[in-house]
Amino acid sequence: MSATLGTLVKSLEPDWSISLFERLGGPARESSDPWNNAGTGHSALCELNYTPQRADGSVDVSKAITVNQQFQLSRQFWAHGVSQGVLGDPATFINPVPHVSFVRGADDAAYLKARHEALVDNPLFAGIEYVDDRDEIARRLPLMSAGRDDDETMALNWSDGGTDVDFGSVTRQLLGHLESHGAELNYEHEVRNLKQNSDSTWTVTVKDLRTGQKTRVNARFVFVGAGGGALHLLQKSGIPEIRGFGGFPVSGQFLRTTNADLAKGHHAKVYGKPPVGAPPMSVPHLDTRVVDGQHSLMFGPYAGFSPRFLKEGHLTDLVRSVKPNNLFSMLGVGLNSMPLTVYLVKELLKSREQRVEGLLEFAPSIDGDDFELITAGQRVQTIRRNGMSGTLEFGTCTVSHRDGTIAGLLGASPGASTAVAAMVDVLETCFPDRIAAWRPRLVDMMPSYGTDLMQDTTLLADLRRWSDKTLRLVGDDHIEA
Ligand SMILES: Cc1cc2nc3c(=O)[nH]c(=O)nc-3n(C[C@H](O)[C@H](O)[C@H](O)COP(=O)(O)OP(=O)(O)OC[C@H]3O[C@@H](n4cnc5c(N)ncnc54)[C@H](O)[C@@H]3O)c2cc1C
Repeated sequence: MSATLGTLVKSLEPDWSISLFERLGGPARESSDPWNNAGTGHSALCELNYTPQRADGSVDVSKAITVNQQFQLSRQFWAHGVSQGVLGDPATFINPVPHVSFVRGADDAAYLKARHEALVDNPLFAGIEYVDDRDEIARRLPLMSAGRDDDETMALNWSDGGTDVDFGSVTRQLLGHLESHGAELNYEHEVRNLKQNSDSTWTVTVKDLRTGQKTRVNARFVFVGAGGGALHLLQKSGIPEIRGFGGFPVSGQFLRTTNADLAKGHHAKVYGKPPVGAPPMSVPHLDTRVVDGQHSLMFGPYAGFSPRFLKEGHLTDLVRSVKPNNLFSMLGVGLNSMPLTVYLVKELLKSREQRVEGLLEFAPSIDGDDFELITAGQRVQTIRRNGMSGTLEFGTCTVSHRDGTIAGLLGASPGASTAVAAMVDVLETCFPDRIAAWRPRLVDMMPSYGTDLMQDTTLLADLRRWSDKTLRLVGDDHIEA
């Protein structure tokens, strides 16, 4: 998030000075590391939580449309970055991988058919297919089809336009560009405090973790892009807008294999239906990953509970986040989220064999011994005050001070895929008097900025062609599994 915002600001105001403080020894070692997230370029092509079924059987696609349009901005920003040399070879960070929704049983197949009908005529989802022919499914998903009963009902929604994204690589490349254009990057520097001065600027207290020395930095604008650490820092800033917010950490694990034969038998990101009580981001999926040019498979996530707000955080993170102003929100969520709590406890108690069982539902012929269990990043779900209680949210939200001098990002989903839209939102909220002057440059970087692509299908088609070509997502030269 910070790398994206920094790149946008550098392009809009090349003379502004930018300093980044990161507590770890290098960039993208928390949630944006490729093995700490699933690398799905979320554009709602396959994630069933974005297309819930209404009571009358019809499918609500409004959230899917929003997420898809947000991802179009990311594609354009990255394509522009490649064309300007800000980002290098596209294959180092984005690769074409079909996005697939997968269900079993007649009821769920009917839902997938209704989902396909609700999306197929929408230009954002052009080309989406409904597939229930077993031979065709076996041709497209050989690894998932091997070892299944012939009479089992299966169905897919299939989109060729999906991507796998290495968000760690994007982050490192954007930060490399920023550094070469004068930004100051400080690693092993932890932000300890934020205090607003009488002239509205901020004093940021930073501790050098190697020497123990503390320094104070003066800033006109602060972006708290601290991932799971953002809630604590925004609380420390004392801005009234953070009052009532809390955080609920959900940890994650994945099964991963680098076995080349297995990876060859599966080239798709296949999302299933979430188990009862599961939070939306815990939908099981079997994914092709392309990291450092190597293909592998990843299955999960298996959710769990840890009181840490960062993977490299502290056991006291959750307790320290409870304040008098968010106590009732947190208690309210605790009392009202029994199905989630039961789900997380069950997940936590799962043995390795039980985890592998989940994988076998996707690919029955697989040998679990080919997979290793890896620990992913922490997600801190946002708790927002709701009257005398609180609501647990699964999206991301920006919190900013009314004077526009500080903003931060809470939550984790759809996350890195929509970083560009989230950071444009920060610019619009915090710099309302400059946004009109910045508009031409923003449109240059993201030609659909400010346009509803559903209303301008010619522009959508043009931008798709351009970003596909620039990011090498079509044609003969993309990476084949
Ligand atoms: C299991 C899992 C799966 C996911 N899957 C996907 C996916 O498929 N697609 C997708 O788009 N998104 C996914 N996400 C979400 C995505 O990973 C995050 O939204 C995104 O990486 C967040 O970026 P960020 O810059 O906000 O946070 P981070 O990448 O976590 O960066 C925040 C940085 O701030 C640093 N920091 C924290 N506190 C301080 C401090 N006090 N001082 C200095 N530095 C500090 C941290 O060390 C860290 O490096 C997933 C997340 C998880 C956990």
